[in-house]
Amino acid sequence: MPTTVLHQDLRQGVRQLCERYPVSYWRELDEREAYPEAFVQAMTKAGHLGALIPEEYGGGGLGVTEASIILEEVNRSGGNAGACHAQMYIMGTILRHGSAAQKLQYLPKIASGELRLQSFGVTEPDAGSDTLSISTMAIRKGDEYVVNGQKIWNSRTHYSDLMLLLVRTTPLSEVKRRTEGLSVLLVDLREAVGHGLTIQPIKTMMNHFTNHLFFDDMEVPAENLIGEEGKGFRYILDGMNAERILIAAESIGDGDWFVEKATNYAKERVVFGRPIGQNQGVQFPIARAHVNLRAADLMRYRAAELFDSGQPCGAEANMAKLLGSEASWEAANACVQTFGGFGFAREFDVERKFRETRLYQVAPISTNLILAFVGQNVLGMPRSY
Ligand SMILES: Cc1cc2nc3c(=O)[nH]c(=O)nc-3n(C[C@H](O)[C@H](O)[C@H](O)COP(=O)(O)OP(=O)(O)OC[C@H]3O[C@@H](n4cnc5c(N)ncnc54)[C@H](O)[C@@H]3O)c2cc1C
Repeated sequence: MPTTVLHQDLRQGVRQLCERYPVSYWRELDEREAYPEAFVQAMTKAGHLGALIPEEYGGGGLGVTEASIILEEVNRSGGNAGACHAQMYIMGTILRHGSAAQKLQYLPKIASGELRLQSFGVTEPDAGSDTLSISTMAIRKGDEYVVNGQKIWNSRTHYSDLMLLLVRTTPLSEVKRRTEGLSVLLVDLREAVGHGLTIQPIKTMMNHFTNHLFFDDMEVPAENLIGEEGKGFRYILDGMNAERILIAAESIGDGDWFVEKATNYAKERVVFGRPIGQNQGVQFPIARAHVNLRAADLMRYRAAELFDSGQPCGAEANMAKLLGSEASWEAANACVQTFGGFGFAREFDVERKFRETRLYQVAPISTNLILAFVGQNVLGMPRSY
């Protein structure tokens, strides 16, 4: 994709913002397992997290291409966009499938940051990757839905006002197709916590704010149903494509950070009387990671271009996410190896970024499930999952 002036300006703006939050900021948060409040506020104030919201609702009116550039630059700077990336794309379900009243009620406040919608409840302990097997049930009683069940790995719940929740409104045993009977509810977490919703934090190997949620007769106003009851699976699918493209870009940002870090170190570190980067055994893994990152980048731009022009992009979005997450991991490994012992020292940030970038081969969808999707839907082989 040719670089436009808009893209250059956007990169420049995000880079300048990120300079105020150097690696030492992220390292210190990682040690304290604390949320990057100041950074997220700065991103919100700059309008970056409202990039995908149309201008008529107070957002940036930009496409996924531009949104992906914003997040890529955050990770490229040594930071971690995972703390706030979901504020950008979860609202897409309201934007594309919500009523006119819901859009007016929520989108301007999400654009300004007054409302944080960065909690997305899909995964369940018993269903795992098999999303259509979720069993959290919402039963309509008068003007309310009453929700019972569990979600796991619900990220940023404590730093969100709203949660987009995928539930079953018809049990799996009663639907003709497995994709039917699922619905999307917008849950006001400020009201739900302590009134049917219990949150149990899960500690992870990186500084991520993820939780196990328990719903025990949690009431959600029926007016918070997005779109039609029973059609929720379709509503979250296009949002997932946006998510995959954005994660691909974050991975590429990580990968480029590792390659630059490794390259500089390989040029400076002298062992046996010469820079270690003069040895092909050190140089080639870094060069190969760079090659694979550039290939992933092409697929990311292709997927974003298709998404932004309203064309089907499921295959490309998934492939971009697979290629990006594997290329960043390859770069991470090459970087640790290049740094030798110092790759493990916290003060160099390599080990932190190494832990952070590993996630993207598992979440929001694992590599095997992408390969299964490509095998079946692109290549027409028998369904394996
Ligand atoms: C830090 C973190 C944050 C997350 N945030 C969120 C969030 O905010 N909201 C949310 O809804 N979810 C979230 N997730 C969940 C994430 O999307 C899932 O972890 C991911 O989709 C994989 O599901 P699983 O963990 O249940 O693995 P499983 O489904 O149990 O799979 C385990 C392994 O088996 C493989 N596997 C399973 N079935 C097959 C098959 N048929 N063929 C080949 N291989 C297979 C998988 O590829 C995987 O490697 C998060 C996860 C993590 C770790």
